[in-house]
Amino acid sequence: MKVGAAPEIPGPPTASPATEPLAFVSVAVLAPVRGAFSYRWPADWPAPLRGQQIEVPFGKRTLRGFVLGPGAAPPVADQARTVLRLLDDGSAPLLPRELFDFLAWTADYYLHPLGEVLKTALPTEGPVPKARRPRVAARSDSPPQSTAEQARAGVAIAAAIAAGTFAPFLLHGITGSGKTEVYLAAIAQALACGRSAIVLVPEIGLTPQMLARFTARFGAEVAALHSGLARGERLRAWQRLRSGEARVALGVRAGVFAPVRDLGLLIVDEEHDSSFKQEDRLCYNARDMAVARAKLCGCPVVLGSATPSLETLANAEAGRYQKLSLKNRIDARPLPPVELVSLRGGPPPGHGGTPLLRSELSLALTETLGRGEQCILFLNRRGHAGALVCQSCGQVSACPNCDVSMTAHQRGRQLLCHYCGVAARWPEVCPHCRGPLTELSAGTERLEAEVRQFFPGARVGRLDRDTSSGKALSRILDALAAGELDVLVGTQLVAKGHDFPKVTLVGVILADVGLNLPDFRAAERTFQLLVQVAGRAGRGVRPGKVIIQTYFPEHPALQAAQAHDHDRFAAGELLRRRALGFPPASRLCAVRIDAVNPQAALKAANALAGAAAAALRGGGGRAAVLGPALAPLSRLRGRTRYQLLLKARTHGELRRLASALQAVVPDLGAVRVVFDMDPLSML
Ligand code: ADP
Ligand code: ZN
Repeated sequence: MKVGAAPEIPGPPTASPATEPLAFVSVAVLAPVRGAFSYRWPADWPAPLRGQQIEVPFGKRTLRGFVLGPGAAPPVADQARTVLRLLDDGSAPLLPRELFDFLAWTADYYLHPLGEVLKTALPTEGPVPKARRPRVAARSDSPPQSTAEQARAGVAIAAAIAAGTFAPFLLHGITGSGKTEVYLAAIAQALACGRSAIVLVPEIGLTPQMLARFTARFGAEVAALHSGLARGERLRAWQRLRSGEARVALGVRAGVFAPVRDLGLLIVDEEHDSSFKQEDRLCYNARDMAVARAKLCGCPVVLGSATPSLETLANAEAGRYQKLSLKNRIDARPLPPVELVSLRGGPPPGHGGTPLLRSELSLALTETLGRGEQCILFLNRRGHAGALVCQSCGQVSACPNCDVSMTAHQRGRQLLCHYCGVAARWPEVCPHCRGPLTELSAGTERLEAEVRQFFPGARVGRLDRDTSSGKALSRILDALAAGELDVLVGTQLVAKGHDFPKVTLVGVILADVGLNLPDFRAAERTFQLLVQVAGRAGRGVRPGKVIIQTYFPEHPALQAAQAHDHDRFAAGELLRRRALGFPPASRLCAVRIDAVNPQAALKAANALAGAAAAALRGGGGRAAVLGPALAPLSRLRGRTRYQLLLKARTHGELRRLASALQAVVPDLGAVRVVFDMDPLSML
């Protein structure tokens, strides 16, 4: 990654008022507009600082903006407008210099207006008020004796922290191998060196469990940044980090923009997790930006996972990242045996009301409950049934706005579109021919009902986006931890890094759900999910067991998950990616074009493809353009969607091509065009 130099700010003007030159500053305004704007800087103000928060006139409006550096005088001096107000307290700009430079770099990398990037990074819509008096820190529990593997990894990271140089690490540790302990030790080291640390976790990781482990160790040094915070709480956490009162930022993806002082370490837990990717507005990947920020400020970054992404593995293989391995579970506990149960010869679980648990899983659950142990059941679809289908005319409950079926939810007896949120009454008969309706596929709501029906004595909880946001989520997880639940059913939320020692059985209802999506990462995601959910079993003293129901037990992703063989899966998948020329063997930028009018969308897509072809003829290196094609989800929220895929060997090539396309966007009218650099979703 190339890091651009930041413009320097000159010292304050010293000339006498009579001969004083006009001073201009270049300003990024908080609006979705590209480029910077020059404003006159009042002569009697203190010298401008990069990153300073100001107010400027913009058209007929007054906007918040940030000083970038010295500005050029406009051709006609009278046309220059003047900065209206300083919003910072003058002693220091709101955004620390290191963070501001990183945000500017981010905007450049993603070809995104800096004002929009700044908006993503700021804790509030309005001006950020001055900090309050810091509180006194409380402090901490003591770490366990490290295992030999933990110690080896710790030494390597500690050396990089002490040296204060850029050093990217892949911490590849199997589930339950004690990665979190390695993070905690590294953070302690950074704090001892007088530095701060940023830790990024997927949204679900910010359960009280994780936060409790961090605050138990570092007390009031920890400030959590996540979407569950009220505005005031988020602002307070942000201010505590900026003032240096808190030196450990524990956050979800936007935490990569935390305003810490003297950053000395970045950690990304579960680095493969797709929740680090933002899919709208600024389409950034916090994992990648963590590496970029570490490089810009010169500090180590640790990417940890039991199932690293192929991108990160390829970087380690090429020697760009140093790989640290934890190959054993704590206390040499074994990984659970995995049994694959073939579903062939029968209907999909739940189809037409058939049971979800085949006899193998049902029996194992009976035994687990009999021993007073706990079970996690995973099905990656929420709701009662994925769709209703008419047995007479074959019509499916389709969303009026989107190219998807509507999911049937027992709660409220309604049909819901999981993309646009539109709801309808659950029809008793087919609305088209009045024929009888049947359920096409099952979701977690149905799974919960079935477990309650067949295991009436069991205490059952459900974890999915219908049951669990914020406090409800932690209540369910706390109940499992306290032994108040016997069975937890849920979507991929159950697969995240939870540590429940009494869970000894994990059941996967249908491993094929994500396997056949039209996305080149489908196998990788399925493998990661299976290994992660399997990793919840047998983490305590009692041994665990995993049962996976599938139509395709021979699939490499399932075979490798059964053998807990990450290396085998990754090697095969890397070969396949190289053969197809997909990442990590290439870089991609998805250009998404959508409009209410399908013709307008197609026309714009063709215009962009034409611009891309012209740019390639003009020397686009070895880049290529795929499409335009209708997106797999060809209509969402009433808008028709096309996709153009730019492919190149390097980010630089890709960026050049993408900026050539961006130049024609203003001519495309009422069509929305989004540039998604390093896209994760192909749908
Ligand atoms: P991972 O994040 O790799 O899945 P964790 O960090 O959650 O694993 O560790 C698994 C369990 O082992 C946790 O309960 C943790 O407290 C415990 N643990 C970690 N390291 C040690 C150690 N060195 N000695 C004893 N227990 C440990
Ligand atoms: Zn919809």
